[in-house]
Amino acid sequence: MNDSIRNVAITGGTHGNELTGVHLVKHWLSQPEEVKRGSFSTELHLTNPQAIKDVRRYIDQDLNRQFDIQDLRNPELKGYEQQRAKLLDALLGPKENPRIDFIIDLHTTTANMGMSLVFNSGDPLVVGMAFYIKQKMPHATLFYEPSNRLEHNFLTSMGRLSGLLIEVGPIAQGLLNYEVYSDTHIAVMHALDYLQQRSEGLPLNLPTQMAGYQFTKKVSLPENTEGEITAMIHPDLQGKDYHAIKPGDPLFITLAGETIAYEGESTVYGAFINEAAYYDQKIGLSFMKKININLESSTNTNCG
Ligand SMILES: [Zn+2]
Repeated sequence: MNDSIRNVAITGGTHGNELTGVHLVKHWLSQPEEVKRGSFSTELHLTNPQAIKDVRRYIDQDLNRQFDIQDLRNPELKGYEQQRAKLLDALLGPKENPRIDFIIDLHTTTANMGMSLVFNSGDPLVVGMAFYIKQKMPHATLFYEPSNRLEHNFLTSMGRLSGLLIEVGPIAQGLLNYEVYSDTHIAVMHALDYLQQRSEGLPLNLPTQMAGYQFTKKVSLPENTEGEITAMIHPDLQGKDYHAIKPGDPLFITLAGETIAYEGESTVYGAFINEAAYYDQKIGLSFMKKININLESSTNTNCG
């Protein structure tokens, strides 16, 4: 695939109550030279204006689940975010052959996930970016979930070479926190510098393999027959994102104070533990597996 980058989009407010991305994009709209690099143009977009105004995650649907090609082409889907997704498809896409080469989408989480670099493509340009940022910011965690770009429903899948979702926490919804804001700011600068250095053909000295995590499943909070939550995240698990969960380890604690243990047969790792945004679906956490991510050598690092 031609991996030269001409058009980059930085997007914030895809979830309207994640203020870090909203205010970083606003900041850069007033200081565009900060995100300007020589070899490509950088666009800034606040993607969910009504949700941002209302400081809500979404109005009708989660915008960051609306970009599957089938949904974008389905005229029956007319909710606010479904229409926003179609508008963004016209602005950044079309999905089948996007105008934008790469999307950096800014998010926050209420879970203790630190800086998580979420990417869905094994393309060396994308993996290389994650490796580059992790080298500069060793506290970052690589969160790799391979997926088919056309069928994927994240906003980052709208980029021709997909993109990078930067997810930083813990931070409450609707809040700014300078540590989270500045960490996200620095990561975006590294992402842009990486694209610039790559296009100039400068040596990036990246490792061929780095450790990371891959999503395996979502785990529901226990509920009764009426569909009401009957337990919460166990205090021993709270805040322990990316830590091992072994068979028999506590997972939940009931309203009456009884521990519910993990009954699986193999060790897993938790992420999005007690994420506030997932209570609407009564999801308590995600299970992840530890993986090694390989950076394939790129055959086309520097051509127009
Ligand atoms: Zn988000």
